[in-house]
Amino acid sequence: MVLKSINPANGELIGEYTEFNAEQFGNIVDRVNRSFKTWSKTGLHRRIDHVKNLADLLSVNKEKLAAIITNEMGKNIAEARAEIDKCAWLCHYYCENIDDFLKVKPIQTDASESYISFRPLGVILAIMPWNFPFWQVFRCAIPTLLAGNTMLLKHASNVSACALAIEELFREADFPNDVFRTVLVSGQKVEKMIAHKSIAAVTLTGSDKAGRSVAQSAGSHLKKCVLELGGSDPYIILDDADLDLAVQTCVKGRLLNAGQSCIGAKRFIATPKIYDRFKAEFVREMKKASMGNPFDENKQLGPLARNDIREDLIAQVNESLNMGAQLLCGGLVNYDDKGFYYPATVLSNVQPGMPAYHQEMFGPVAALIKAKDETDTIKIANDTSFGLGAAVFTSDIEKGRYLAEFELEAGCCFVNDFVKSDPRLPFGGIKESGYGRELSIYGAHEFMNIKTVYIK
Ligand code: NAP
Repeated sequence: MVLKSINPANGELIGEYTEFNAEQFGNIVDRVNRSFKTWSKTGLHRRIDHVKNLADLLSVNKEKLAAIITNEMGKNIAEARAEIDKCAWLCHYYCENIDDFLKVKPIQTDASESYISFRPLGVILAIMPWNFPFWQVFRCAIPTLLAGNTMLLKHASNVSACALAIEELFREADFPNDVFRTVLVSGQKVEKMIAHKSIAAVTLTGSDKAGRSVAQSAGSHLKKCVLELGGSDPYIILDDADLDLAVQTCVKGRLLNAGQSCIGAKRFIATPKIYDRFKAEFVREMKKASMGNPFDENKQLGPLARNDIREDLIAQVNESLNMGAQLLCGGLVNYDDKGFYYPATVLSNVQPGMPAYHQEMFGPVAALIKAKDETDTIKIANDTSFGLGAAVFTSDIEKGRYLAEFELEAGCCFVNDFVKSDPRLPFGGIKESGYGRELSIYGAHEFMNIKTVYIK
């Protein structure tokens, strides 16, 4: 089988990569497993030096790497540059903190000495998505490798150039051979990969569908897995919200990465008093989003990453409209254009039963929902199988804090801002958005043997 990269801005084939066969995969995983034996015993400060090299290489090669991203999955070039910068930030953050995160922790018991030691597990298989093709990989790889594990990357089939560029960066950063390797394999082969005796654990960032399949395989082989899955993040706008701030932030949160973000703002739930004003301002701002060539610095929205993703989105919007949702802007596709563009779109009167209410909309489509009152906003926000992020807009900070901390069922709850990942804060979901955490100290501990040592 051949993995194809298609430029989503014009539909042209830009790369073909022969999928690795079972023997090639087996060979590489054996090598990565052998390298674990030495890497896990390499001093932490040497491991940190390699990651520092990586951060430097990211900065030096920013333009080149950003162009690979934009060509292959279509995000606008400014966002692609920002993604590379964020990877470098993450490298620096972990270089500064990993020593502390992995420090042995003495615990007083009846022993003469007892403590917790953090030991690596082995080869971690990382199955990654195309939407932030560098960030998602770095976010799981850096803490995992610094902790002494080695890693095998199976990237999404439409971003093989990104996958190979990342592997090349590790090589240039002078990491020992086979500490980090890319394998070009399609999703259908993942089950066999998880089963391989040298794979210690697996992490997936992707859809809930892939999550179920990976969890099943990992479960049947009793291997640890972390799942970072989809979301349908609710944004609550209360009567006392700063309207300008809410509108600007919600638009930004919805349009980032052309709406293809797991933590994108997806459902906007407002109380009756503010709903009409929010709707009018929000639609006005969404209409301003310019769409076009992602290398054009003046365009906010690039194309969607693949045509099938656009087709799915069109079907979700059409079905919601057929069920009574109203189209306030966008929604129309120009099929004369060879690129996979989809405009900023707003749906109102979104009701239970509609795809826009229940499903993840992976594109620049906003679903507006009018709640009966404040209590109803929370009920609607939590009326979802997902639980990744959520936000609330209010001038009453104490109320915002209470709702974020105690009422909203999600892994990342923000007050008066859009949900974003930050190396210093844990990231992950509950419910069908997955389990496990990335980033911060919690991400660094996911693929560790948190070992008890007890000396009588
Ligand atoms: P996807 O279809 O699930 O693909 C993600 C990765 O999983 C790809 O490498 C894919 O390989 C692989 N895969 C697909 N089906 C699989 C299966 N049955 N078993 C094992 N692996 C499989 O998701 P996507 O369309 O690329 O990405 C969008 C989804 O990811 C959205 O739902 C989004 O919310 C979620 N996401 C979550 C986070 C988070 O942090 N929570 C971050 C980003 C994205 P192939 O490409 O070869 O099929």
